[in-house]
Amino acid sequence: MTPTACPVCLIVPSRVLLELKDVRSALISEQLRGHRAGVGAPASLVAAGRQRAVYDARHHAKLPGKLTRSEGGAASDDPAVNAAYDSSGATYDFYQTVLGRSSVDDAGLPLKSTVHYERDFNNAFWNGRQMVYGDGDGQLFVGFAGALDVVAHELTHGVTQHRVPGGLDYAEESGALNESISDVFGSVVKQWKLGQTAAQADWLIGAGIMAPAVGKALRSMKDPGNTALTWSGDDQPGNMSGYVQGGDVHTNSGIPNRAFYLAATALGGNSWDKAAKVWYAALPMLTPAATFKDVAKATQAAAAQLGLSAADQAAVKAAWKGVGVI
Ligand SMILES: [Zn+2]
Repeated sequence: MTPTACPVCLIVPSRVLLELKDVRSALISEQLRGHRAGVGAPASLVAAGRQRAVYDARHHAKLPGKLTRSEGGAASDDPAVNAAYDSSGATYDFYQTVLGRSSVDDAGLPLKSTVHYERDFNNAFWNGRQMVYGDGDGQLFVGFAGALDVVAHELTHGVTQHRVPGGLDYAEESGALNESISDVFGSVVKQWKLGQTAAQADWLIGAGIMAPAVGKALRSMKDPGNTALTWSGDDQPGNMSGYVQGGDVHTNSGIPNRAFYLAATALGGNSWDKAAKVWYAALPMLTPAATFKDVAKATQAAAAQLGLSAADQAAVKAAWKGVGVI
């Protein structure tokens, strides 16, 4: 088996679910990891432009479920259906408008989503073919389909799998990079939709998906591991000195996440104008086992290739220095 790309990519790491004592959602999540769907869609399904379809699993595990809303169709009575439709549309629009990319595979892959997966399921995931959302149990998590950064994070796993030649191995530094790239574009898509500059953004991942008693967000790109901004179990390092050997990819991703935050704020203005374009241009320069140093080098090369000023190129380099990678 090749460890290429991530298996089924879930937004809530099993470690988090176990810490919150939701063994059931953790077990379902672990079982899903072994059941990745094939990548891509038959050519006959690929059409020009945005092609969204939202299905209702009606609290079962069978995918995709009942077709409830198609591209251009009337809004549903079900808010979860409309949230999945809108958030996948915003992610598609970001990639198309800002980066000139046609969907996840740059070949118009239709964006399928299923809501109401299982009962009280505290997770959401991309299975290589479609997005799937649990409702949350209302005690720990309160729903996922409306969180644009979560949706863009998951769809970006698909982008990474197509844009990095051979994908990024889902372990150690390359795995943490895989996670970080999803957080980067998850946050940038949210900022773009809200019209926020890098200075105005909250740089949180998953704000609003946790019940308030549990926490405020899964992660902070600005200040990884700051439990006051996130939740009590946040163990992310924000510097190479805190790298956890063999650690969870969602833990070590704090290091490249903070590098992006430092670069985006130093470059100023909107994160999608320069920083996101640099990171996106760097992806094809990576290999499946890319290290943090490799991506530091690739982003500097991309900044030069995109014609950024010497000061801006220095800012990209300084961001990686700021997290101890170079
Ligand atoms: Zn992920």
